Amino acid sequence: MQKPPLIPVTTLLFSLTFLAAITLVPWYGFTHGFEWYEWATMAVIFMFNGTAITAGYHRLWSHRTYKAHWSLRLWFALWGAMATQNSVLHWASGHRRHHAFVDDDHKDPYSASRGFWFSHIGWMLRPYDDKRDDFSGIRDLQKDSIVMWQHRNYIPLVLATNFGIPALIGFIYGDVVASLLLSGVLRLVLSHHCTFFINSLAHIWGRRPYTDRNSARDNDVLAFFTWGEGYHNFHHIFQTDYRNGVRWWQYDPTKWMIFTASKMGLAWDLRKVSDFRIAKARVDMEYKRAGQKLTCEKALAQLEEQYVAMVAALKEWSALRQQKLEAKAEELKKQWEASEAHTRYVELKKALKEQQDRWYLALNGHLV
Ligand SMILES: [Zn+2]
Ligand SMILES: [Zn+2]
Repeated sequence: MQKPPLIPVTTLLFSLTFLAAITLVPWYGFTHGFEWYEWATMAVIFMFNGTAITAGYHRLWSHRTYKAHWSLRLWFALWGAMATQNSVLHWASGHRRHHAFVDDDHKDPYSASRGFWFSHIGWMLRPYDDKRDDFSGIRDLQKDSIVMWQHRNYIPLVLATNFGIPALIGFIYGDVVASLLLSGVLRLVLSHHCTFFINSLAHIWGRRPYTDRNSARDNDVLAFFTWGEGYHNFHHIFQTDYRNGVRWWQYDPTKWMIFTASKMGLAWDLRKVSDFRIAKARVDMEYKRAGQKLTCEKALAQLEEQYVAMVAALKEWSALRQQKLEAKAEELKKQWEASEAHTRYVELKKALKEQQDRWYLALNGHLV
């Protein structure tokens, strides 16, 4: 099939900035040198751009996982424009279709099944997406005045931020060229590809603990480079959760940032999927995999039995946990401690641990 022609602006933007980053930046570094504070400034802008995309474009606007004060939305709109990944409207529209039709080669605008190159950058270089200007999936965002303002002024904002901010910083530091190269070019290229990895590598490389119905993966290495967005398998099954790295130890600075903003009164209504649904998804995947691996009929029967017991235990444990959380006030806490539910909760905490041990034995066919 004949490919549509290249889009000149996009192709030039990606190729020229990339070429400059691998030639002009090292050349200037060797001939003139960069100061540590010029690197540090680049890192800070890189962080502002990256988190404007992850916390703003992605988790706030595309998925509505929380609500944000206008000042925070303005912050995301400005630093997000500097990241040069199109306006919030275009970005969120494409992203919602990516989730709705993930891996569908015609309806998912950056379907990973069309290969690494296509999902990473290729999809933007040619007019493949015939729904590009169809905003019917983002009517809610069209009511956000900051989103609409950014959309109308996208090009001036891109130019003003990408040239203006590095030039101003360079003027203050006394080396405009160094600043334009580091905080301008190199920062933009790194920022671009770190985001693009979520569409490409995060659908290719990593584990699938929650679902194997789509290609999205969880990957700790990618999470490090993408402000926590590397937990993409979790994200695709639970897209309404403001967290991507759901475990406390998982590296998800975007989650920490949204949580901190909520403590400062800048964000509210943070949405979370219940612990039960998350744990159940994991157990379902483990059950499915063990079922495919085990051959002994007795082991399979044990597995089935333990699966039912495991789900029941999780369900009761999470319901009681919810009760416990709701019983926060002192008065209620007293009632809770005197209640039968509390005694059962303490018992079940132990029972769940034992159930888990039996579950893992059954998964490996060792319970027989
Ligand atoms: Zn998403
Ligand atoms: Zn995805």
